Amino acid sequence: MLVDTHVHLQHPRYAKDLSAVILRAAVAGVTAVIIPGTTLDDSAAALDLARRLDGTSPCQIRVAVGIHPTEAYLLDAAALDSLAALAASDGVVAIGEIGLDYYWPERPDRSWRCAEPATQRAALERQLALASSLKLPVVIHDRAIETRSTSCARGRPAILRPEGRSTRMPPGLIC
Ligand SMILES: [Zn+2]
Repeated sequence: MLVDTHVHLQHPRYAKDLSAVILRAAVAGVTAVIIPGTTLDDSAAALDLARRLDGTSPCQIRVAVGIHPTEAYLLDAAALDSLAALAASDGVVAIGEIGLDYYWPERPDRSWRCAEPATQRAALERQLALASSLKLPVVIHDRAIETRSTSCARGRPAILRPEGRSTRMPPGLIC
C-alpha cells in the first residue's frame, strides 16, 4: 500500500485537472491520499472534497485537519473546539498540518500576516495534545527549525504509535 500523506488537493490550483491528478497518482501505484488542512476553513474544504470524491476516486481520499504554523494566530479556544469537532468526522485520519516554521517570520519581503514562533509553539502544543487525546497521528510541517516539532511529539506515544479508530499511520513529516 502506497500512501501520499501530503497533497493539498482542495487548493484552487487543482480545480482544473483534479481528476487527472488523482488518476495519475493511482496509475503510479498510490492507493490512498491524505489531504491536510491549513486552517479551519481549509480543513473543512478538505473534508468536503473527500466526501465528494468518496466512492468515485481511484485512490482512497482521507483528511488531516489542523492549523498550519504560519496561521497559528487563528487557534484560539473556540477554534480548538471547532477543530476537535472536525477531527471527529468520518474520513479524518490525522491532525495536520501542524508544526513550526521559522523561515517565514524572518522574511522581510513577506506581505502577509505570519504567526510568530512563540504563537506557533503554543498552537503546536495544543494540537499535539488534541491528537494525543484522540489517539490520532500527526502530519508535521517543520521548516528552518531543525527537529523541534518532532521532539515535541516524542514524549507522546499515542502520536508516534497511534492506535486510533481509523488508522495506524505513523506520523508524517514535511520539511
Ligand atoms: Zn502542506
